[in-house]
Parts: sequence; structure tokens; C-alpha cells
Amino acid sequence: MTVIAIDGTFASGKGTLGKGLAAHYGLPYLDTGKLYRATAKRVLDAGGDVALSADGTLAAKAITAEDLADPILKSGPIGAAASKVSVHPDVRAALFNFQRAFAAHAGVLDGRDIGTVICPDADVKLYVTASQTERAKRRHAELTGYGEELSVEEVLAQLIERDTRDSTRAAAPLKPAEDAHMIDTTGLNIEEVLQIAIKICDAVFKRP
Ligand code: C5P
Repeated sequence: MTVIAIDGTFASGKGTLGKGLAAHYGLPYLDTGKLYRATAKRVLDAGGDVALSADGTLAAKAITAEDLADPILKSGPIGAAASKVSVHPDVRAALFNFQRAFAAHAGVLDGRDIGTVICPDADVKLYVTASQTERAKRRHAELTGYGEELSVEEVLAQLIERDTRDSTRAAAPLKPAEDAHMIDTTGLNIEEVLQIAIKICDAVFKRP
């Protein structure tokens, strides 16, 4: 059983890397951010409040695999709401088993607390980040592709807010696991990042 845990900042390229590694090693892939996004969407659809733990927990308990396929989950407003609903310990607890069940088989998971909380025994832990300016530009290009009209400056402001909330919350804050391999993707293209990660993983897999 091989588990690769990827954590990192917003728009760092961890999702693209996760998919690339999963394809390379023939492993299933789980974008755990979608669980929090789907939870936030359920809360909003029900007219609830993502700031309320009870609303978020009710929604998190109802999440199914089908929820994760909704393309609206990628939108900026849902992402911001996801960051707010994810601060509640009960929401995180409600989503824990879904992630553990996935990780019980071989797989690649990406998120914010995979190496620290969900899969502390993962075979390889990667922590991915990039400069704020570069991440803002990447996210801006992505959002423009979805038809959202925001300036790079607005995206940068949202990104700083998101980084701060994700890394300062009390429950499972975003931080590298002590044994994580750090990858700074600033100035690198997708293929270059993938090759760096493959090198790290291969070195670990070859260890006796
Ligand atoms: O990665 P993504 O942008 O889709 O995640 C949306 C939000 O969900 C993050 O900003 C974070 O607050 C939350 N999240 C989390 N733990 C994870 C994955 C995502 O708290 N494992």
C-alpha cells in the first residue's frame, strides 16, 4: 500500500502535482479540498451559515462521492466559504473517515492536513508552495477561465486572507509535517515540478 500525502498553500500547484503523481504511479487521487468545498456548498444551498459549526457539521455528514463531481465547487466564492467552514473541528471530524477510508488503500491525497492529521504514516509527504505573487497570477488565470472577473490584486488579497485563515486556525492548521519534503514551485512549470516530486518519491520507494 503506497500513500503519497501532499499539502500546501492555496494555488501552489499541489492539485496538478497530485493528479500527475497519481497518473505516473497508477494510483487513485483524492482532492480533499473538494470535501470542504462540497460541505460549504451544501451549507449555502440550505440557506445556512458557514460560520456556524452546527450547519457545517450537518452538511459534512451528508457528503457523498457524487457531491465531489460538481464543477461549481471550483469557483472562488465556494473556495472562500470552504476555508471558513473548515475551521470547525466537528466539520473536520465529520470528514475524517471519508479521507481515512480512501487512504486505507493506496492513493495520492492533497489538502492542508494530510501529512499531519489524515495520513501521518504516509510513505511520502510533500509540502508545496510558491510565492504569493506567482500563486495569485496562476489563480487569476484559472478563475478567468471559469468566467470570473477579478483583478490579480483582488485575487492576491483573497489569497493572503485564505493563507492566514488556513495556517492560523486552531484545528489542523496548514503547516508542513516535520518529515515533509518541501517543493517551492515558483518559476517552475508543471512538468518540472512533477519531475522533482517523482525523484523524491522514487528515492523513498527504493529504500530497503
Ligand atoms: O484546496 P482547496 O482550495 O480546494 O481547499 C479549499 C479550502 O478547504 C482550503 O482553503 C482549506 O481551508 C480547506 N481545506 C482544509 N483541509 C484540507 C483541504 C482543504 O482545511 N485537507
